[in-house]
Amino acid sequence: MLEISHLKKSYNGQPVLRDVNLTLAQGEVMAIIGPSGTGKSTLLRCVNFLERPESGTIALDELTVDAARATQAQIHALRRRTAMVFQNYNLLRNLTALENVMEPMVTVQRLPRLQARRRALELLDKVGLADKADFYPRRMSGGQQQRVGIARAMGGDAKVILLDEPTSSLDPELIGEVLAVIRQLAEEHTTMVIVTHEMKFAREVADKMIFLEDGVAAGEGTPEEIFERC
Ligand code: ADP
Ligand code: ADP
Repeated sequence: MLEISHLKKSYNGQPVLRDVNLTLAQGEVMAIIGPSGTGKSTLLRCVNFLERPESGTIALDELTVDAARATQAQIHALRRRTAMVFQNYNLLRNLTALENVMEPMVTVQRLPRLQARRRALELLDKVGLADKADFYPRRMSGGQQQRVGIARAMGGDAKVILLDEPTSSLDPELIGEVLAVIRQLAEEHTTMVIVTHEMKFAREVADKMIFLEDGVAAGEGTPEEIFERC
């Protein structure tokens, strides 16, 4: 469903990703682990062209984008098929939780407001925040804000949800509630790619793990296989 081939990305002539290859089937959860500064976050941002790879291809269902000759229309199509959950939530501060979840549905998917509202309320309920729909981000804890971010990502047409260290901005006592939501999505076979440094979580949630090191996917396998090798 998602296939990344020969992905390459450098910053200022310094290669970060040298030749990354990976595949993910529909309904699978992949965790990307590896030392800090090794390019995990860069890899995730390359998947939806938030960072433009130098070369390589990204194929998502019937769409294949060759980085070297990607058109704006292809990049746009790829972005619609992916949704990012950011470490720092990236909620709009002047919108309520409900409006934050509705926003891409209205502006990107062009759903009628009433329909978007109904869907957004369902998603907030799913992440346990039905009673916080009218709260502004500043009145919510980090864990609650991140759950709004997850609900927003689930609301679009995305085929795959990309999560960049979804729990690392959170106080320890709030991490559990976000992990529980992600684990529930995994059980429902939401296709996800998760960058995380939390091994225990990665092991519990992922069907497949890749260990990124020196710009390549140095290991790929089930959590059991990866941990046996470490
Ligand atoms: P990780 O997520 O594994 O911690 P990153 O993908 O954030 O790693 O970063 C990989 C390397 O690329 C680091 O050395 C980082 O400093 C560098 N890097 C990341 N983003 C940029 C950028 N926009 N400009 C220059 N260097 C960057
Ligand atoms: P993460 O924690 O997701 O790995 P970082 O904290 O490394 O991200 O980086 C945060 C932001 O700073 C990113 O947008 C990244 O592109 C940028 N960045 C990281 N390293 C550098 C760098 N050496 N030069 C310029 N920008 C950088």
